[in-house]
Amino acid sequence: MSKHPLVVIAGGGPAGVGAAIGASGPGNDVLLIEQSGFFGGMGTAGLVQPWMAYKTGGKTITGGLFGKIVERLKLRGAFKDGGHLGMTHHCFDPEILKIILQEMLIESDVDFLLHTSITGVDIEDGNITGVHTWNKSGAGTIKGVIFIDATGDADLSYFSGVPCEKGRPQDGKMQPASLHFRVGGVDESRMPEREEMTRLYLKAKGEGRVSCPRENLLWFDTPRKGEIHFNTTRVINVDGTSGIDLTRAEIESRRQMEELTGFLKSDVPGFENCYLDVSGSTVGIRETRRIKGEYQLTADDIRSGKKFPDAVALGCYGIDIHLPDGKGTRQEHLKEGEYYSIPYRALLPSGINNLLVCGRCISSTHEANAAIRIQPTCYALGEAAGTAARLCIEKNQRPKNLDAELLRQELKKNGSIVD
Ligand SMILES: Cc1cc2nc3c(=O)[nH]c(=O)nc-3n(C[C@H](O)[C@H](O)[C@H](O)COP(=O)(O)OP(=O)(O)OC[C@H]3O[C@@H](n4cnc5c(N)ncnc54)[C@H](O)[C@@H]3O)c2cc1C
Repeated sequence: MSKHPLVVIAGGGPAGVGAAIGASGPGNDVLLIEQSGFFGGMGTAGLVQPWMAYKTGGKTITGGLFGKIVERLKLRGAFKDGGHLGMTHHCFDPEILKIILQEMLIESDVDFLLHTSITGVDIEDGNITGVHTWNKSGAGTIKGVIFIDATGDADLSYFSGVPCEKGRPQDGKMQPASLHFRVGGVDESRMPEREEMTRLYLKAKGEGRVSCPRENLLWFDTPRKGEIHFNTTRVINVDGTSGIDLTRAEIESRRQMEELTGFLKSDVPGFENCYLDVSGSTVGIRETRRIKGEYQLTADDIRSGKKFPDAVALGCYGIDIHLPDGKGTRQEHLKEGEYYSIPYRALLPSGINNLLVCGRCISSTHEANAAIRIQPTCYALGEAAGTAARLCIEKNQRPKNLDAELLRQELKKNGSIVD
């Protein structure tokens, strides 16, 4: 690793990996800092599956780096198309994804530091000059020229004093937390239909044998035979930027997981011999801070399929809010063939000159965030932020002054889809 990287990226989830590879290029020293021991964020650490739709009406909406990751997963037999309730989705093997992401970062000559948390920043005249880090070697400071916040929680922006929002407008409550888990040993040929599984689940709830607040049993298949993936646990009133709340969410969601596994074994045909296979190494946090940036993406932008002149990513997934009160899910799907775009301005935070933001913490309302937060879109937003950082270094410019059309052309050259 060189002494002073030019581009420093906080967080190695979908957005951070996208940003690091987007920023990479000859002579551009890029450093990616991740607090866990591997890359992929919620998709690996949180075991969050499947990838929601990135194709609509025969058009692929997310290309670039994300498309290349899909190709590598397919080559390793670690990818499977699926769908339910009229929506397409895409299952992947998270263990293989971890390997593919590290392989692609190494090929792109990106430096990285794992097991390292960013704990603060130094700021001079509206510019971040360095980030404070902590790992087993102790506390440190890493300097850079352009910084990218891909922490999901907008940690870097928050430490820098960028204005942020949390939750729904009326009370600031956020979507519930959910621990994803998988059971193995399932005889899929005997599994009932979705509706029947939910009927059995609600019966067990009514009898007091299941205490999860969720209204139905949400499950997906995986690329592996006999394995079913559950996104059913639900813990409410969790602020994912509070250590105390995160601790409560871990404990309660693991309790729900065991209870649900017991219910599956005793009540659901095909699950009699199932066993708890694996769970996320962290509870899944859907929503925390959103930055206030040059443009705030709104629900109307999503619903109307708005196309911005400075679009840097597209999305076709609609508003999907797991209601903060615990029971109910509000879903507004777009019609087949409809999609929206996300403007470069939503990645530009107010107040700091040399910071870009990508992934789920971009400038968006509570509702719009519930659409753009899916992993394929976060990879694309990351690639856009990283590419912008590379162009800023090349042209010696601030992100806010970068010509968005130049950025769009550069993204297209690398296979990204922005129109
Ligand atoms: C329960 C749940 C269900 C979901 N369901 C789906 C689904 O079905 N399909 C879908 O496509 N998407 C789904 N999502 C959404 C999706 O997984 C996330 O929105 C997406 O992963 C966000 O990507 P990101 O890169 O912005 O953030 P993250 O994936 O959260 O990655 C952020 C990374 O930054 C690291 N980090 C954070 N803070 C620091 C710090 N201070 N220092 C160093 N590193 C740091 C984290 O360890 C992490 O690796 C779901 C999310 C949850 C929680």
